[in-house]
Order: sequence, then C-alpha cells, then structure tokens
Amino acid sequence: MTVCVVGHSNPDTDSVTAAIAYAALLNAQGTEAKACMQSEADVLNPESKLVLDRFGLTAPEALSDAAGKQVALVDFSDIGQGPANLVDAEVVAIVDHHKIGDVTTNNPILFRAEPVGCTGTVLNKMFKEAGVAIPKDVAGGMLCAILSDTVNFKSPTCTDDDKAAVAELKGVAGIDDTDALFMDMLKAKSAVDGVPAKDLLFRDYKDFDMKGNKVGVGQLELATLDQVADVREELMKAMADVKADGRHSVLLMLTDVVKEGTDLVVLSDDPAMIEKAFSGKLENASMWIDGMMSRKKQTVPNLQEAFGC
Ligand code: MN
Ligand code: MN
Repeated sequence: MTVCVVGHSNPDTDSVTAAIAYAALLNAQGTEAKACMQSEADVLNPESKLVLDRFGLTAPEALSDAAGKQVALVDFSDIGQGPANLVDAEVVAIVDHHKIGDVTTNNPILFRAEPVGCTGTVLNKMFKEAGVAIPKDVAGGMLCAILSDTVNFKSPTCTDDDKAAVAELKGVAGIDDTDALFMDMLKAKSAVDGVPAKDLLFRDYKDFDMKGNKVGVGQLELATLDQVADVREELMKAMADVKADGRHSVLLMLTDVVKEGTDLVVLSDDPAMIEKAFSGKLENASMWIDGMMSRKKQTVPNLQEAFGC
C-alpha cells in the first residue's frame, strides 16, 4: 500500500513541503509513498503556491479521508489537525517539531520529533543520516518552509539547527539571498486585497482543546498592520461567527513581522482571563503584545496556563 504523507489541516508551507520531502525520502529508501495535503491545490495558501511555483514542485494531492490508508504524519500529531477518520488509518511514521499530540498506534513506528523551528530542519537531518541526496527542487521547498516557520529566523522557535539547515539547503537549492526570498514569501502570504474575511481568519488557523474548552487561534503575518485596517470590522465579524459555533474563545494574531509584535484580537467568554494570560489590556477587543511572534511557543502556552491545562 502506498503511504500517504500528509501535514496538518489548513496546510502551511512546512506541511506542504515536508509531505513532498518525506515522501521523496521514503521512496528513496524503498517505501512507496506519495505527498498529500488537506487542501485542494487551487485553495492552497498564497505563500505555499508561490513556493511550489518558484521551485517547480507539484502540489501534493488532496487527502480528506484517511480511513483504511497507511499514513505518515508531518508537522503535527494531533488527531484534530488530521484528515477525517485518521483513527481508522494506520499511522506508520511521524516527523514533527510540535508538542506530542494525541495520535496513538497499535505498532511501533518511526516517531521523530525535535524541538526545532521547522519539520524541514528535521527532514534535512534525516536525509543526511540516510545518505540520500536532497533533490534541488525539494531542497528549495524545505528551505522556504524553514524561513516561513521561523519568520526568517526571528521567531523564538528558531534554533541553531534551523540556521544550519538553511545554510546547507540554500546551496543545494541554488539560492543566494534568503532574505529576498523571505520577503517575496511574506508579500504573497500577507496579501489581503480582495480576500474574504473568513478566508483570512482561516488562512493559518488552529483549534485547541483547553480543559474541555474549544479555543481557536488564527494568525496573519503582515508586513504592516495597515494592511488589515480596512477589513478589521469584517475580521471581527468572521471571528464572532466562528466563536458562535461552540468555541469558548477565538483569537486572531495580527503579527507585524517588521515591528516584531502582535496585535492580539480576542473574542472570549472570559476576556479578563485572556488579558491576564498575556498581561495586557484589551481595548476594542485587541491588545498589542510586543515580541509576540509565535502561536506555538508564546500564544498557546500562555493560554494553556490560563486554562489550567
Ligand atoms: Mn505547520
Ligand atoms: Mn512546522
């Protein structure tokens, strides 16, 4: 059976390129595998589209139902972030850089998770350990994933391993200026013109279970907050709709990548608790948090502590 390599829902560049890279590695090691993603190619986020185009990579095929399939998970290990019926699939491998999720298996599997900034960094090590050369186009995708996940090395999740991986991958991919590449990606990612507010909210969005409370956290990485000034009201309306669908809180991180901070928009049943979690004060349902760049390393841990997880 062909192993479907798949990243999390609402796929980002890491989930897309890690699926491509790990499928390539598995195939090189004699395991038949194909890259998949939880998205149709035509609605893939604009940053990932640019990356696939730039390096001539084929978009992974859409996978929405995992029942009866052999799957390898990249960039996540939470059932809630997987395709439908993941519990009825056979998970044969996991490569990740997040906290360990709730996926369980009946058999021993390859489980490789490291506290680094990107799955691409872990995969770069795995290629080297396996003695498998990374194809040029695949290296380009992995390189972009590391730049994206680490916000061009500015995120607190970024490690020396990520920087070392970029230094190696840029040579393989034939890229001289990774700053210029990152700015191209940022411009594509942060383009909001003509995009419906709900699509913006879900562009990079995850639901979390916090002590039985459903909490959604979206993030838009922007070159400047001015980009969303005109759609702010519509964004808050979209958040209210999503919150009304059984959520305790919905947060939207409007992250200014240049100023290195986040305007945190909060709709919550308990706004005082969220204020306390971030030592901030909400005004018109938002607060500026200096230095907040990472949902995973800053926003979610603070929320988990506030909810007593
Ligand atoms: Mn990801
Ligand atoms: Mn990642």
